[in-house]
Amino acid sequence: MKTYGHFIDGQDVPASGGQAFESLAPMTGEALGLAARGTAEDVSDAVDSARRGFLHWSGLPPAERERILLKCADHVEASYDRLLNLLIDESGSTIIKAKYEVLYTASVLRAAAGEVRRLYADTLPNEKPHRLSMVLREPLGVVLAISPFNAPLVLLAKMVVFPLGAGNAVIAKPSEETPLIAVEFARVLHEAGLPAGVFNVITGFGAEVGEPLARHPGVDGIALTGSTATGIRIAKIAAETMRRVQLELGGKNPLLVLNDMDVTRAAEIAAVGAFTHAGQICMSSARILVEQPLGRAFAEALAKKAASLHLGDLRDEKTAYGPLINQRAVEKVKSHVQAALAGGGELLTGGQVQRGLVFQPTVIYNPPRSGPLWCEETFGPVASVTEVDSFDEMIAIANESDYGLSAGVLTNDLVRGLTAARRIRAGSVHVGAHSFQSDPMAPIGGYGMSGVGRSGGKYSVEHFTELKWVSLELGETPRPF
Ligand code: NAD
Repeated sequence: MKTYGHFIDGQDVPASGGQAFESLAPMTGEALGLAARGTAEDVSDAVDSARRGFLHWSGLPPAERERILLKCADHVEASYDRLLNLLIDESGSTIIKAKYEVLYTASVLRAAAGEVRRLYADTLPNEKPHRLSMVLREPLGVVLAISPFNAPLVLLAKMVVFPLGAGNAVIAKPSEETPLIAVEFARVLHEAGLPAGVFNVITGFGAEVGEPLARHPGVDGIALTGSTATGIRIAKIAAETMRRVQLELGGKNPLLVLNDMDVTRAAEIAAVGAFTHAGQICMSSARILVEQPLGRAFAEALAKKAASLHLGDLRDEKTAYGPLINQRAVEKVKSHVQAALAGGGELLTGGQVQRGLVFQPTVIYNPPRSGPLWCEETFGPVASVTEVDSFDEMIAIANESDYGLSAGVLTNDLVRGLTAARRIRAGSVHVGAHSFQSDPMAPIGGYGMSGVGRSGGKYSVEHFTELKWVSLELGETPRPF
């Protein structure tokens, strides 16, 4: 079996304790490789290397950083097969999703390269004619990026490359479910010319290596994409250590179907929103609200579409989605479905495991507006459809959540669509589409328990910089005030 070390200072390094853990393919249960199981000692090595990397990288002219990031983008594309196959196997992604992730990762790298030369600072018009005031923008230093399992290449890339563009060094702690793809990504960037130490990866478990990294005094900022429970832990550490954080957390995203829509078309769009990657997407359309009188007709059209989805080989382009990540995830989905049915929801299709970790596409009509299917992330292929009498009530129900990550509004009426977009409390609202869309330049993040800060384009780059006021006295003797 292949063994993967941490990637520190441009090299594969075994865990200092010699411990390793298997990375399993969720579709087959096969062990794909052994990943290093990080310890506190590995943390110090990675931070020392990143601090040296930061000194070198932040001192390069921006044009040189831009050139290297563009070369990294080209090399990601040139490494397409190697990244694609590992992504499919390790994360249980279909070939369609994996292709998208690899190509989008190259796009994110180019977007970050484009931001490198746009880090403008200011001069201030100030009250004192004898003083010139400047505001400088400087990289924070070493940024820790903690990533989840569900889109393990592109979500990691987003958290890494924008801070890099700003001149920071980055240490990544990928999900213990998908460690190998993160190490492979670091190798690819290094081969493309990213200097040693600028991007290190430590693999292992949250409590064993994620938390010691987050607490390490050599780390200046933290980006986490993960669950709200982990976000709360990281926010507490950040509060104690006064560290800049950016948290992209969970969601329970509404998709509004207004009553001017054709139900078949709306169901086609909603099926993509609810079932892509078996619903293991933070922005998946989990709560579908349908304006009357379309409720039942829409729910039946969605159930028909769901039942027709092909759940085959991951490398077959017709396959709609693959397995859940592990058995714990399957048990959680089952329990949410059972609670919704016990609370009076009507099962229109699905509700069972198909085989292994693959769960059937499931549609539940009018589930209770309480309990886990309504309030918590299910992270499975379960669409709840709720009929609603009026537009105002739809908005109120859409906002009936502790989360506020994203939303979709299906309508041909632009005024009602944009009115909904303004009234829904979510970090992104997509009119004419389901709730998960991507754009490397757009600010991604959420309201409420969905997180803090935004990632993407200039928003990430600015988040991971410090502002410094520098003044110059022009000839006058400095006075106390
Ligand atoms: P998770 O919170 O279980 O794990 C995320 C990462 O945090 C992993 O690398 C894990 O090892 C690490 N971690 C866990 N405990 C830690 C600790 N105490 N200290 C430091 N690190 C720790 O999440 P997951 O199950 O891997 O991913 C799914 C979650 O991610 C869902 O909630 C989903 O909504 C969310 N997500 C959000 C976005 C977004 O953009 N908002 C995108 C994708 C996924």
